[in-house]
Order: sequence, then structure tokens, then C-alpha cells
Amino acid sequence: MQAFYQFDHYSKEKTLIHAVSKKNFGEEYAFSLALHTGETQERIIANRESLVRQLSVEEKTVFVTANQIHSDHIVVIDKKEMRGWHDLKDAVQECDALVTNQRGVVLTILTADCVPVLLYDPVKRVVAAVHAGWKGTQADITTRTIGAMGVRFGSDPSDILAGVAPAIGRCCYEVGEDVALYFLNYSDAIEQCGEKYMLDLPQINRRQMILAGLLDAHIEMSGICTACEVEEYFSYRKEDGCSGRFMSMIGMHMKKE
Ligand SMILES: [Zn+2]
Repeated sequence: MQAFYQFDHYSKEKTLIHAVSKKNFGEEYAFSLALHTGETQERIIANRESLVRQLSVEEKTVFVTANQIHSDHIVVIDKKEMRGWHDLKDAVQECDALVTNQRGVVLTILTADCVPVLLYDPVKRVVAAVHAGWKGTQADITTRTIGAMGVRFGSDPSDILAGVAPAIGRCCYEVGEDVALYFLNYSDAIEQCGEKYMLDLPQINRRQMILAGLLDAHIEMSGICTACEVEEYFSYRKEDGCSGRFMSMIGMHMKKE
């Protein structure tokens, strides 16, 4: 079994570090990487150290985690320093999208069903990691992150490559009318089933990125549903509110190509 899920287009980019972790039943808590869900901190940190070894990144590479709150808050990381990696206290506070042009900085997002979106501008050399649950998707967080890459670093959306990592799919994501009403205009990504609706959040994020100017050919969808593939990914819904989280990450190697 492969240790990570990876996108084909990103794998061809030598500058990039990117991966989506999978469950590993040989490691503590099936290789959960979250510090905020109540597991023993030292064991989660041991999992994170194991992750870093498997990524084979340069020694001084730093990792940045955010205290995710289902918002549309975006933070640009200017400094090369560890954030929230050994302790929650110094995580980037109240934010759901991270952007940087710093080499040797790996941006990370933790999820179990929500949509992780990884962005890379190979022209301006900028990366971003986005956490888009239904609230973030409703607030256009992915679009807003693309906007922030433009404002701050001059990124042209038509240059940006996107990867939509495993998330709960329309096969398994049932929502009530209270949530569905925000997405009724995405007619190809929502389907009514009796009083409930099946919602396709990865597809809505794809639509939003195309509206923001990304080329369809530059968006790679994993097409993996976390609830269907619960042996490999944590699924909050499928596992009745599990506490495990897998990590989606993106950064640029320190060495210039
Ligand atoms: Zn499914």
C-alpha cells in the first residue's frame, strides 16, 4: 500500500513537496496527525516525525499548521518557522487557508471529510493549502485564497495548478435543506433525495476555481470519497465523529531547481 496519496501533475514538479497522508494501522491512532482532538500529544508528534522522515525533505524544512475554524480567513506565511507542529499554542490562529512563497515551508491542512485544496503557482512560485468544509465552501474560501495569491504575489489564476484531495463525496454527503439552500445554484453538484440532499463539495470547489479563472485542465480531482474509502482515510461521518485526521500538505523545496 502506498504511504501517501499524491497528485499526478504535482508529482512532475521538482520544486514541490506535496502529499496527502493515509491511515496506517501500524502507527499510533492509525496515523492520525491532529493535536487538537484529544489524543496523547507525544504520540501524535511521533506520528508527525514519522511523516517528516517519509517525506524526505531537507533538514531545515518547517511545517505550519492552523487552528482551523471553518472560516474564510486566510493567512500569508512570511517567516520560515514551525507553527503548531509540536504544540497547538503556536499554531496559526483562527484561519482556514495558508499561503506562502517561502521555500522550505510546508503548509498543512487536517481533515476527515472536509475538502482539502492544494494550490501551486509555478510562475510566481507560490503555494497554498485550503480547508473547505461546507461553511468554507459557502464563504468561497478557495476563490478568496486564489485572490490573495494574486494580490500579494501577483499570481495569475490561469497559471495556478490545483489539487482537490480526498473528501466526502456526493455518494455519502447527505445534508438538510438548511445547508443545501446555499448551493442550489450549483445544479450539477446537488441532488434532492426526499427531504434531504446529496451534496458534492469537491465539485463545487472545482466550479468556484473555474469561475476564479483556473483552467479546467489545471484542476486535478482525487475523486476519492473518504466515507467510501474509510480504510485509508479518516471520515468523521462514516466513523461516527472519529477524532482521527489526515493531513494534506504542500510546500517548495529549499534547493532552487
Ligand atoms: Zn462515498
